[in-house]
Amino acid sequence: MKAIQVHEHGDIDVLKLEEISDLQPGDEQVVVSIKAAGVNPVDTYIRAGINNYSALFPHCPGKDAAGTVLKVGKEVTRVKAGDRVYCAGNLTGASAEQTLCNENQVQPLPDNISFEQGACIGVPYTTAWRALFIRAHAMPAETVLIHGASGGVGLAAVQLAKAAGLRVIGTASTDVGRDLVLANGAHHALDHNDPEHLQEVIALTGGQGVNLILEMLANVNLGHDLSALAKEGRVVVIGSRGPVEINPRDTMARDAAILGMALANATPAELRRIHASIVAGLENGSLNPVVNKSFPLAQMGLAHEAVLEPGACGNIVVTV
Ligand code: NAP
Repeated sequence: MKAIQVHEHGDIDVLKLEEISDLQPGDEQVVVSIKAAGVNPVDTYIRAGINNYSALFPHCPGKDAAGTVLKVGKEVTRVKAGDRVYCAGNLTGASAEQTLCNENQVQPLPDNISFEQGACIGVPYTTAWRALFIRAHAMPAETVLIHGASGGVGLAAVQLAKAAGLRVIGTASTDVGRDLVLANGAHHALDHNDPEHLQEVIALTGGQGVNLILEMLANVNLGHDLSALAKEGRVVVIGSRGPVEINPRDTMARDAAILGMALANATPAELRRIHASIVAGLENGSLNPVVNKSFPLAQMGLAHEAVLEPGACGNIVVTV
């Protein structure tokens, strides 16, 4: 089969399309024939060996994919050959014609969701769900600021928060990004590059501040976020690309909490709950992954560049 292989950390030119052996499942494993793979910022960190990430070589990038089940091990009961599935995690990489998964890494892909959309579910929706409902204990009628709402995680969070009955304020740096945030259910969309935008957030809450902030770029925003929180407000740090200075007193008066969140810390029990909820949302139409740009597998390097470009408008995928 064809697969992207990385033999050393580096720029996009280390992404090589090569021929490697077909995959065989172990007893509790599934081989998926990939139609589309999702590209997330973390894939670029692993390829480059930055932000505390590294890889074992040869490395096939990508955690997310969608396709049909090709082969199953003899202990597998949840899926069978031919089933449409999305993969949230895998054992061999997603930038390939096939991927090997543990049975619990594949989930049914409803017929109303395309393979390209299915490739955008794993990291973005699992991250947004865990941040909102497990770390921040989001509740209906609360107000959430999704600080960076136009990217993969942000749009997933907008859809999940809206469906759960929260009031949603999302940010994006472009008009088209803000329109997309509104189209996906946000009540208000603001520009995070406007120095006054957090004052607008406070004004939108009648001076109270927001109950939750999901933060995609904490190194830029965390120090300012704290003053936009309501009493007992929570900030969940999802993304950060460097250090930041905060004034701890801003947390004291509000009884506020700053919560870290790493998807890698999700337990098997959490992942079962998260995917049951996501599949239900895909089926009932409240969740609808947004594909921004699609590249052929051979142009994986362009996909790795696209996912880091400013002006996000949904997810980046490669088709196989
Ligand atoms: P993405 O699709 O590239 O989106 C990035 C988002 O950040 C866009 O909405 C972008 O908006 C926004 N942004 C840019 N500058 C900003 C600023 N100054 N303030 C607020 N938002 C800003 O990436 P993603 O997949 O959504 O992931 C978002 C971040 O979370 C990344 O850093 C990623 O590595 C991280 N992440 C962490 C976990 C975890 O387990 N903790 C899991 C998944 C992702 P514009 O482009 O419109 O400016």
